[in-house]
Amino acid sequence: MRILLTNDDGIEAEGLRYLVDFAKTLGEVCVFAPKLQQSAKSHSIEIHSAYEVKRSDIFGDVEAYSVNSTPADCVRVAILGMKKKFDLVISGVNNGPNLGGDIHYSGTVAACFEGAMLGVKSLAFSAAFNSFGNAVKNLGRAYEEILRRGLWERADIVNVNFPEEGEEMLVTRMGPAIYSDSFVIENDMATPCLVCLYRGTRDLSLDTDAVMTGHISLTPLGYDLTNFSALTPAERKIG
Ligand code: MN
Repeated sequence: MRILLTNDDGIEAEGLRYLVDFAKTLGEVCVFAPKLQQSAKSHSIEIHSAYEVKRSDIFGDVEAYSVNSTPADCVRVAILGMKKKFDLVISGVNNGPNLGGDIHYSGTVAACFEGAMLGVKSLAFSAAFNSFGNAVKNLGRAYEEILRRGLWERADIVNVNFPEEGEEMLVTRMGPAIYSDSFVIENDMATPCLVCLYRGTRDLSLDTDAVMTGHISLTPLGYDLTNFSALTPAERKIG
């Protein structure tokens, strides 16, 4: 199996080192990772200017490239630019969760959307902030659980989040946003203030609640953003 790895925290990110070690146990690994921190850059891509794609020996004998652009561009330049073939894209291990509404901002998950758009099954791994221990310990278990449940037969992307502690695995759906978005406006400057909103609910069908209560969350995601519940049965059948 040929595996493309990326990480929105950059090529020097701690979580990427853990991911390289894990992915080497699964198959042939190639890394395309951003040169710089790209968290919360979502699915942004560069279409106007050239950017640096430079071979790196940071992972020893593992083929690796430092890309001076976004995580989505890492996937694009590997597959579309350098014509490499992959059976799986893995993004992470992110420093911090990618849950609920935050998935829309996630550079980690966006790399997986790009993989899916280019026809490759994808997997996002995210750990608790500055706490990789539980994630690293359970990467293999989560991967095996995805296979055992056949999630990639039904979804192109699986978004996995690890709590700081706790090993029980749940298949979930996207929960609500877990941060408030407020700003301090002063002296012609806007300073964003992120405050965690999670209030300790316990709906374990939601990724947010599952992880906040100490479970490993596996959420199947899809490229198609159509709101199927907004379509009447007749509309769904058109085409
Ligand atoms: Mn990140």
